[in-house]
Amino acid sequence: MDRRLAAYRRAIERIGEGTFDVTVESPEADEIGDLGRALAKTARVLDARFTEAERLLELSARVNSGVRLEEVLDHLYTSFHDILPYDRIGLSLMDPDKTTLRAVWARTNQGIPTIASGFACDIRLTSLQRVLDTGLPRVINDLETYLAENPNSDSTRLMLTENIRSSLTCPLVVTGHAVGLLFFSSSTPHSYGCAHVDLFKKIATHLSWAIEKSRLYEDLVRTRDDLCEANRRLERLAAIDGLTEVPNRRTLDGALEREWGRAQRNGAPNALVIFDVDDFKAYNDTYGHVLGDGVLRLVAKTLRASFHRAGDLVGRFGGEEFAALLPGTDGVGARYAAERARQRVESLGIPHVRASATPHLTISSGVAACVPRRGMAPEALLTAADAALYTAKRAGRNSVFLQEASELPTVPPPPPSTSSPSATALLSGTGHVG
Ligand code: GH3
Ligand code: MG
Ligand code: MG
Repeated sequence: MDRRLAAYRRAIERIGEGTFDVTVESPEADEIGDLGRALAKTARVLDARFTEAERLLELSARVNSGVRLEEVLDHLYTSFHDILPYDRIGLSLMDPDKTTLRAVWARTNQGIPTIASGFACDIRLTSLQRVLDTGLPRVINDLETYLAENPNSDSTRLMLTENIRSSLTCPLVVTGHAVGLLFFSSSTPHSYGCAHVDLFKKIATHLSWAIEKSRLYEDLVRTRDDLCEANRRLERLAAIDGLTEVPNRRTLDGALEREWGRAQRNGAPNALVIFDVDDFKAYNDTYGHVLGDGVLRLVAKTLRASFHRAGDLVGRFGGEEFAALLPGTDGVGARYAAERARQRVESLGIPHVRASATPHLTISSGVAACVPRRGMAPEALLTAADAALYTAKRAGRNSVFLQEASELPTVPPPPPSTSSPSATALLSGTGHVG
């Protein structure tokens, strides 16, 4: 038997085991020599295919592992150099308007890319529209000649300044729609042949998945941000009074409950002022509800501007009543602040011909303050402020009255039962004058 046949058999066994770098000696120009040369060629082709498959698998793994699009592109640029001819890779994506093509990424070994992120063009004015429409790759193997024949191609001119001489453009298709283009470019003319196109197309397919994933991810992030924003708006709506844009009763109740507990622990005073617009029914009857609403907005703004200590909270209690919760403030301090607020509202000079105290719109306030004792519920403060307001009204309106701490009634907290209402619910049900 010819000694070469034994060597060829060993080579075939090694190829079968996945080792393709076999050398087959076949100098003689006879039939067995031909067999050896064919075997060597098969080993080279298999080696190239195997490497391609490996690289594509790596690329696919990158896409599937959820790394960012930019990282997938960087990986693409660095890992296909030895099996494909390119000196530059660029990615451009279509804007949602489907007419603007925008460069989003480019990498080159020829310095800084001239067509880089942000470069945009109207695709309808370029020959690239055809690549998108047909879904077929386009090879231009001599860009200098191409520019001579297409002198309006700005992108070709820019590519030539980057020393690029041939290019292969692959469309990127996601769920049947062309979403962009992947550009492979080489500084050597005639770099691209039919043999490469198939592999480039496979790369483009993997990249399309990466783009789809990154777009879905962006959509997800946008949806999440929209939801968070909607949630913030809802929370605001639930806490703010729609007409006057100051905190509403719900917010005031929650704050009173919190501050009451804090004051009990710290042995600090807590003050509550309830404001009520004087003769407001008569105001509405005389000037109409639209002006009445405007007055409520103005009073709310004025009251809010009157209390500026950290922790002070001014809100709309309901109807034409407002409240100020003043943690850490005693009765005398709260009465002083309430009197200042009363003066500010009076000095707005809002005409009110049917007001009982002055010809202007005024407010009356009931002030209550105490250091809450253990076992005392927050509605004690509310009841006292209400009683003080009643006294201020009876004194002729446009006045402030302080309920002394010693006069505060002791309202025990509700018994601990699952069916009993919370302190907040009790507060919300408290009746008051005005
Ligand atoms: P007093 O001096 O004793 O407080 O008299 P008053 O007229 O202000 O009190 P009353 O409780 O009799 O009437 C309150 C009025 O406040 C009745 C209602 O028309 C008006 N009011 C309550 N909420 C609103 C509102 O959102 N907008 C307008 N325009 N008026 C309101
Ligand atoms: Mg009133
Ligand atoms: Mg009232």
